[in-house]
Amino acid sequence: MLEIVALEKSFGDLKVLRDINLRVATGEMVFVIGPSGSGKSTMLRCCNRLEEPTSGAILIDGKDIVGCSSSALNRMRLEVGMVFQGFHLYPHMNVVANVMLAQIKALKRPKDEARERALAMLDRVGLRHRAETMPTQLSGGQQQRVAIARALALDPKVMLFDEPTSALDPELVGSVLAVMKDLKDSGMTMLVVSHEMGFAREAADRVVFMDGGLVVEEGPPEQIFANPKAERTQAFLSRVR
Ligand code: ATP
Ligand code: MG
Repeated sequence: MLEIVALEKSFGDLKVLRDINLRVATGEMVFVIGPSGSGKSTMLRCCNRLEEPTSGAILIDGKDIVGCSSSALNRMRLEVGMVFQGFHLYPHMNVVANVMLAQIKALKRPKDEARERALAMLDRVGLRHRAETMPTQLSGGQQQRVAIARALALDPKVMLFDEPTSALDPELVGSVLAVMKDLKDSGMTMLVVSHEMGFAREAADRVVFMDGGLVVEEGPPEQIFANPKAERTQAFLSRVR
């Protein structure tokens, strides 16, 4: 379970997150939508302390990643898988080596175990047959699926996605969303920032609308999309539709 409690973040005088409270239960997929600059990425980045929160707590299965020691932080970071818009694969390593690397460096897994796990995760995203390929030979959608396999190989307790399909050609988006749907169906806890409203409607358990560093409203997708309560949510949805 992921629980964000009274999270605040400022950059100098700029208050970007103001009292965010958000809970993602085990196995739940929560979607975050909101205008550009509303703080969605900053909130996700705080969840593994890529960004240092100004105050508040972020609990991963009950343990606070904000207040913990640096050794606990290194351990807990591995429990929070992150997938970004850009895939950030190492271009000089083949696909399976990319998925093995953090397992060996961070988890200290023996090489053959890391390879076995990497191949299993590549299988899960439908790319085992491309294990020996160089990342640049793959489509953007395939590269993003490798990035997902790489995160999964570390056995995360929760997966965070920041606009995972925004950089992809439209015809490649579906394959990445299908992998995310599979992941949800397998019980993964997921917090997803995305503009894929159709996917949110079909697969999200809850949708959260953020604006100005605040959670303005949240609810089941059918309610948020068909019958948003807040004026700001209505205005945003009428712009993006
Ligand atoms: P988008 O939809 O465009 O990705 P977002 O909701 O993800 O937007 P954030 O990237 O979290 O928004 O940014 C929230 C605010 O924080 C913006 O005003 C942004 O300029 C500011 N911001 C983000 N990172 C920094 C930083 N490192 N230093 C200063 N300001 C920052
Ligand atoms: Mg963002």
